[in-house]
Amino acid sequence: MKMNIVCIPGDGIGPEIVAQARAVLDSVADIYGHEITYQDVLMGGASIDVHGIPLTDEAIADARAADAVLMGSIGGDTTKSPWYQLPPDKRPEAGLLKIRKALNLFANLRPAVLYEELADACPLCSEVRQGGFDMLIMRELTGGLYFGERKTYTENGMRHAVDTLTYSEEEIRRIAIKGFEIARKRRKKVTSVDKANVLDSSRLWRAVVNEVAGEYPDVTLSHMLVDNCAMQLVRDPAQFDVILTENMFGDILSDEASMVTGSIGMLASASLNDTKFGLYEPSHGSAPDIAGQDIANPIATILSASMMLRYSFDLDKEADAVDRAVKAVLQEGWRTADIMSEGCRRAGCSEMGRLIAEHIRQQ
Ligand code: NAD
Repeated sequence: MKMNIVCIPGDGIGPEIVAQARAVLDSVADIYGHEITYQDVLMGGASIDVHGIPLTDEAIADARAADAVLMGSIGGDTTKSPWYQLPPDKRPEAGLLKIRKALNLFANLRPAVLYEELADACPLCSEVRQGGFDMLIMRELTGGLYFGERKTYTENGMRHAVDTLTYSEEEIRRIAIKGFEIARKRRKKVTSVDKANVLDSSRLWRAVVNEVAGEYPDVTLSHMLVDNCAMQLVRDPAQFDVILTENMFGDILSDEASMVTGSIGMLASASLNDTKFGLYEPSHGSAPDIAGQDIANPIATILSASMMLRYSFDLDKEADAVDRAVKAVLQEGWRTADIMSEGCRRAGCSEMGRLIAEHIRQQ
């Protein structure tokens, strides 16, 4: 297969971790006979330094023309970097919001996986984390409370504020379809999370998800109220496969799910539109405190590249090979500084990438 990938290395550790994800993709291409062309595009602080703005229209056009985008992370030290003296719409993060909107990336996927080898980093008690967990939170990203009408006003000397939570059935249907499609590539279980006992938007959410479920008889659907889901994530996270939810609930639950894994350098993410196109990036930021030292953990970006193979190119076998290689390197005791524990072997960012790429060649 020919793959046309735009790379946005970004700022801080971004260029270091993207280089390692590329090394892993190159290894996949060699072994499985694919052809990858990469095009580097500037975004965030790196784009401000060259163009004065965090994302140019040309950069968006390049991303749109690609099959998928692999991103590092953007932004600098928010207390020291001159990028943060600029008005908010000219700062690095504005580029991120702009590209998500321009590419209509409405589905955000955040896997939360607890590797047995890293179980000690998990803040949950040993009975709960025993056996590990592997879930994926699918969050609607472009609708709901964060995009509804809002206002603040004063009436009879009293201040009021209003935010509106609106969803159309079309917005719900397209993310539900994504959720069921992705569950088919996993353990075929969807938990749809809402607040249907109180909110009209949630009752519509539940009704439309039920309609979509009719098209996927091989996938098991259950519904859960968001307050219960927040509890279940720390009580029994292994029960979840795909959690499908709206924007604000997903914002909160995906952070909770990430934190229970305990390892920020391991968390991948993807944002998809209604085609096979996606933007793949680690969940963490640009870690300016450790940039340029070759000590960052590249695994979140490597696992994001694996998601790209699976979800944008339908190369499940190749994605499995990457996931297996990550696991094998951890099993051999290799650790970057952030996940280091006693008795393990320390690897830098480039060494970790090399080890994972090498494992793919040996499988
Ligand atoms: P951060 O995620 O960059 O770092 C938090 C802590 O985790 C730091 O101590 C860092 O060294 C460590 N860390 C993060 N990733 C790591 C990795 N791969 N390996 C080892 N250690 C890692 O969050 P922050 O410090 O709050 O933000 C730094 C910058 O990143 C800010 O400018 C912020 O706006 C930006 N940011 C960007 C994105 C994005 O590009 N999507 C997301 C979050 C934050």
